[in-house]
Amino acid sequence: MSAVRAEMPSVVTADWLETVPACNVCHSDAIQQIDPECNLCRCSECGYVFDNPRPNRQEITAFYSQQGKYDSWLSNAAARDALWKRRLKMLLPYRAPGNLLDVGTGIGQFLHHAKPYFSEVAGTEISERAVRMAQERYGLEIQRGRIEDLPLSDLSFDNLTLFHVLEHVPDPARLMRRCHQLLRPGGIAVIAVPNDVLAWGSGLKKLGKRMGLRAFRKFSRVTGIPKAGTSSEIHLSHFTPVVLRRLLSSSGFEIVEEGLDPYYAASGVWKLAHSAYYALHRVMFKLSGANRYETIWMIARKKEDSVQDS
Ligand SMILES: [Zn+2]
Repeated sequence: MSAVRAEMPSVVTADWLETVPACNVCHSDAIQQIDPECNLCRCSECGYVFDNPRPNRQEITAFYSQQGKYDSWLSNAAARDALWKRRLKMLLPYRAPGNLLDVGTGIGQFLHHAKPYFSEVAGTEISERAVRMAQERYGLEIQRGRIEDLPLSDLSFDNLTLFHVLEHVPDPARLMRRCHQLLRPGGIAVIAVPNDVLAWGSGLKKLGKRMGLRAFRKFSRVTGIPKAGTSSEIHLSHFTPVVLRRLLSSSGFEIVEEGLDPYYAASGVWKLAHSAYYALHRVMFKLSGANRYETIWMIARKKEDSVQDS
């Protein structure tokens, strides 16, 4: 393993790559490259795994602007509705009375289902097409852009949801600090991310790669994580429960609930299989505290006495 030290400048090193000089979660410069083939590094201090070097912002925007990129949002609508209802049911017992902002809301399916339970709902989304679809399908006025850039008022939300957002952004710590600023004291943040460092599924992909199987060529032999650009999404961060807890804690939150995000949208026999697999992991998590499922679910409350820098 070679070490990538802090003196590495945060500049674009190729047409489409940029390097990350320090850990985004704990700011340590003790970064180890764990898989050069898949551009993966790990922080020796906190264990945060991330793409480095990684596609730059322009490259990511171009990737998600490809034709048909969001078509999956429209397919299997009933299964996706069921998915959003599952998540809603899980978060409602923890919600703070008041309004909700869904960060990275996509076409607004979640807000559509959540609306009756909050005084007001709002959403942000970077995809122009998704914003248009949310308006056409659900009559929702979604703000286009990132919450770090949009003119949102501090202390103006009671609940924030980030479903599979953190793994996509270049600076997750900055995003969580902004979430902290936007929430009123005691406000709730609900976060779901992939668990692709520890999930059993990643272990299988790692094995397939090591066995030289053609179908597993794009995965890292060290982590089982696919190389950026080879899948339908680009994940820049690869969280574990420990790392996510640390990120939330250092952003001024206390964890009030932790579990597994029932992220699957399936029907028929596949729904049964997914539900059974999810149930198995829930039992394992309850008994051992270990999460080997594909996803992590956390609910965090803004600490009353915490003061964060911007
Ligand atoms: Zn770190």
